Amino acid sequence: MALTHAELLNAIDLALAGDWAECEPIEALVAAGCGGDDSSSEEFGSPANSDGDGTDSVGAYELGRGAGGQQVYRGSDLSYAMEITLEEAAHGKDTQIRIPSWDICDTCRGTGAKPGTSAKTCGTCNGSGTVHLRQGFFSIQQTCPHCHGSGKIIPEPCVTCSGAGKIKKQKTLEVKIPAGINEGMRIRSAGNGEPGTNGGPAGDLYIEIRIKQHDIFERDGDDLHCTVPVTMTLASLGGGIEVPTLSGRAEIELPEGTQHGKTFRLRGKGVKGIRSSYPGDLYCHITVETPVRMTEHQRKLMRDLDESFRKSGDRHSPNAKSWTDRVKDLFK
Ligand SMILES: [Zn+2]
Ligand SMILES: [Zn+2]
Repeated sequence: MALTHAELLNAIDLALAGDWAECEPIEALVAAGCGGDDSSSEEFGSPANSDGDGTDSVGAYELGRGAGGQQVYRGSDLSYAMEITLEEAAHGKDTQIRIPSWDICDTCRGTGAKPGTSAKTCGTCNGSGTVHLRQGFFSIQQTCPHCHGSGKIIPEPCVTCSGAGKIKKQKTLEVKIPAGINEGMRIRSAGNGEPGTNGGPAGDLYIEIRIKQHDIFERDGDDLHCTVPVTMTLASLGGGIEVPTLSGRAEIELPEGTQHGKTFRLRGKGVKGIRSSYPGDLYCHITVETPVRMTEHQRKLMRDLDESFRKSGDRHSPNAKSWTDRVKDLFK
């Protein structure tokens, strides 16, 4: 899953805006020399990781030329999907993740060449890392397909690192998830992406938040919604019901004659978003349940009740009355 350029910019905005001091332990969030002029950026042939460590390569940016005339590339950004619960998103969470990291290969000291041999200048591009293609009147500069921009060819690659000059391993990163984070938001950890090529800066690591479906609550921005089933008798007579919130229990006082679909709002019992000054609200949607599997005695009580209701007309069913009137109008 590669991030588009727009998504990257969006993530950077998120990392720089608001109160992100809480995120400090995961490394400074200030942009680390990002790829220069956008028009010169290009995808660099860095294969996506498929070793199941939860990260994907995003693509590197060409930064210009290093001291040796070789092209310098910023390392690829990595993205890491993290799934958390709604409670963790609301209250924040300290956690650790395992991410890939790279060490300079000891065997070849980072050159990628077998000890005793050395890299040779690429014959295709004469060490410049780029080739010029002629198309009509235009000459187009492209990364050398032979050496992939490094300007060098390794005739005998180091056996330990297969010529990469670096060895991939895992490291543990402390992550502080800020309270109020929401689905799809990203936390950036500068410099924890893939290392750069030919001395270029490392890419960044993006932790993308996914929130697990909750058994009770549905989140809509800072607000929470839940459905509360109540019995027909309780809705009729009224009374207190207990409802869950993310911070313990709360009580709702149902008035006599509460209708199905009625919503009660518990102010401030939602989630306090990252950039919000106040927490959102909790909306409890009441569903009135029709009794099932009644005993003979209960059926008799229901019939008696029904008869009693009929005697006093339809004034006990406010919706039914207006509905009946509208139906009558329809057939006039
Ligand atoms: Zn090596
Ligand atoms: Zn070349």
